[in-house]
Amino acid sequence: MEKLGIFIYLWVICSNFLNSDALSGCVDRKHNVVVSKAAIPKPRRVWFKPVVTYAFIGYAQDVPPVETEEAIKNAFAQWSSVIPLTFRDVTKTEEKPDISFIFSSSICRVYAFTIPGSRTVFNTNTRWAYRDTSKILSREYLDLNSIALHEIGHHLGIPDDSGRPGSIMHMHFRRPQTDNFGNYLRPLLQPDDIENAQALYGLVKKT
Ligand SMILES: [Zn+2]
Repeated sequence: MEKLGIFIYLWVICSNFLNSDALSGCVDRKHNVVVSKAAIPKPRRVWFKPVVTYAFIGYAQDVPPVETEEAIKNAFAQWSSVIPLTFRDVTKTEEKPDISFIFSSSICRVYAFTIPGSRTVFNTNTRWAYRDTSKILSREYLDLNSIALHEIGHHLGIPDDSGRPGSIMHMHFRRPQTDNFGNYLRPLLQPDDIENAQALYGLVKKT
């Protein structure tokens, strides 16, 4: 019964989602950008505790679990380096997580969506990659780290289009780039992302 309730809930969200913005969750191949969007951008959800927990419910098919965990962990680490919040993985414990990462093929035609403060669902019909430049640059795959950075921003209460083009929370952000040797250049929070997060949570206290 609980599963049925979740399914109906997701269906309603996805229906509203697709009806409200035809571009949501699509890759714009012409402009080399990725479009994502929070399922429920309002009301803004802000954490009032210093430690937020998360857990994985399933993993991406194309990325080994350990690398999936690393991609998400790195995304959290970037955010926690600029605001006084820390994030703890409770996957292998009995603890109920604040945020769940779900990999499912049962969602609508978006690559990922987030219910802030609850869960992020990655679509397993999408091909995911992590640090594999040949896959990412082929545009047949999406970079898990980039999307995780963006979706975690929603969990922090930052809506889409909060920053200028090129920022992680902009609706159209760049795919990861490579250096002159073809090495993966990790997507990084941009000044607008950091400013918006610190406006909600303040600065990291120096010890
Ligand atoms: Zn978004």
